[in-house]
Amino acid sequence: MDSVRVRFAPSPTGYLHLGSARTALFNWLFARGQGGTYILRVDDTDDQRSTEESMRSIFGSLEWLGLTWDEGPGVGGDRGPYFQAQRLERHQECARQLLDTGKAYYCYCTREELQAKREHAVREKRPYRYDGRCRELSQDQREHFEAEGRTKTVRLLVDRAGRIVVNDLILGDVAVEADTLDDFIFMKPNFGPLYNFTSPVDDADMGITHVIRGQDHMSNTPRQILFCEALGWTPPAFAHSPMVHNLQGRKLSKRDGAVGVEDYRDMGFLPEAMVNYLARLAWSGEGEQEIFSVQELVDQFTLDRVGKSPSRFDPKKLTWLNGHYVGEKTVAQRTDGAGPFLRRAGHEIDDVPRDKLERIVDAVGDRLHTYADIVTYAGYFFTPDDAYDFDPAALKKWFKGPEALSVVTDVRQTIAAIDPFDLATIEEATREWIEHRGEKVISVLQPIRVAVTGKMVGPSLFDVLELLGKDAVLARLDRAAAELPGLTTQADGESGQS
Ligand code: GLU
Repeated sequence: MDSVRVRFAPSPTGYLHLGSARTALFNWLFARGQGGTYILRVDDTDDQRSTEESMRSIFGSLEWLGLTWDEGPGVGGDRGPYFQAQRLERHQECARQLLDTGKAYYCYCTREELQAKREHAVREKRPYRYDGRCRELSQDQREHFEAEGRTKTVRLLVDRAGRIVVNDLILGDVAVEADTLDDFIFMKPNFGPLYNFTSPVDDADMGITHVIRGQDHMSNTPRQILFCEALGWTPPAFAHSPMVHNLQGRKLSKRDGAVGVEDYRDMGFLPEAMVNYLARLAWSGEGEQEIFSVQELVDQFTLDRVGKSPSRFDPKKLTWLNGHYVGEKTVAQRTDGAGPFLRRAGHEIDDVPRDKLERIVDAVGDRLHTYADIVTYAGYFFTPDDAYDFDPAALKKWFKGPEALSVVTDVRQTIAAIDPFDLATIEEATREWIEHRGEKVISVLQPIRVAVTGKMVGPSLFDVLELLGKDAVLARLDRAAAELPGLTTQADGESGQS
């Protein structure tokens, strides 16, 4: 068999959607696993909607995911150009060949005429099909239409008796009756080609052996096969992967939240987690394994293990998987990854010594599911002692009665006396104090945490106290003692209304 050549062919009309990213990934895995070639082709024939910005964004997302291409924009290759718009002459040449061999014909029907026929079909409650009026035009009629100055499109002459079978590597054989297809238009009035024509021409020219793409293209495939046959080419193999749905089973759209790869990058997800998650979204290995390195995916990926039915995108599972990959990073890597999120949240970290930053990230530990989580778990370290926010939910939960407030005022003296102010001494002194007080550990530690961080979640409190330092802890306790009585009444009031 010829060596595998696959392509990912995005239209540069937006960002890289998760579903398209998965299509790119399946092509890439297939190529890498088979020792083949992965090509990036830009389907930019729609010059109204194609933009440079979108192209940059798609390339950036692919590169971030690690799905680098062997041929295509930026890297070249000997089957280019890899921008469809630059292949216009070739498309026109093939269209002329089809016209010259009688496999396609000019259609002079006007928009209005076609619209009237469509409406007629609707009135008769039958599906509209082009009636083939221009199939058999005489020379005279053609000249008459030309003289009238009518615009003309080009239609493929489809043998209505035929049947097209797509031997899909994921879905199995899918048969389509040719008479449901119509003599469809593939060249616009300006002799510009439409997608169903450009795609098979470019696939053939680029020596594509397998077209792997979403099931939304299934209806295009029989038409593209017809072009291959009409031009005397062997069609590539096809594999249509299932769509990506939301948890309710509907097409994943912007209404469901973030759907672009770059959104996930900006939210602090890791490319290896995205790749793992997207692969598992429709493909499964032999067993129950969920976590796959890129190399394992390359080694194990086969099209026959891709599912047929739509996959459901579960952000929680992705977050869980991301937490796994974050956990595999060294503290230094996590610090590098999390830093930009702290900066973006307005925290000044440039003057914080590196070892302190790393100790903070280390203390946050496996609570970091995405790098953006650092802001929740550690943002208060970088906020002035009189400016961190008290989370209303934390106040509501941990400052229900006066006991919590008295913890905050009472512990001050103990903390002030801790010397040296290191982890072991802090823990020992605080525990001793709690024991003496005779209260449940959590109902003492949590109010202190909320008082000095404003949050009810975070690293171990003893770590937090040590990392803040004695002066900051005391300043924060004083602030809490002064402000919380007012705030907790408010929080109570709010809870009373809800
Ligand atoms: N440009 C098409 C798209 O983005 C490509 C489809 C194909 O793979 O043939 O959907």
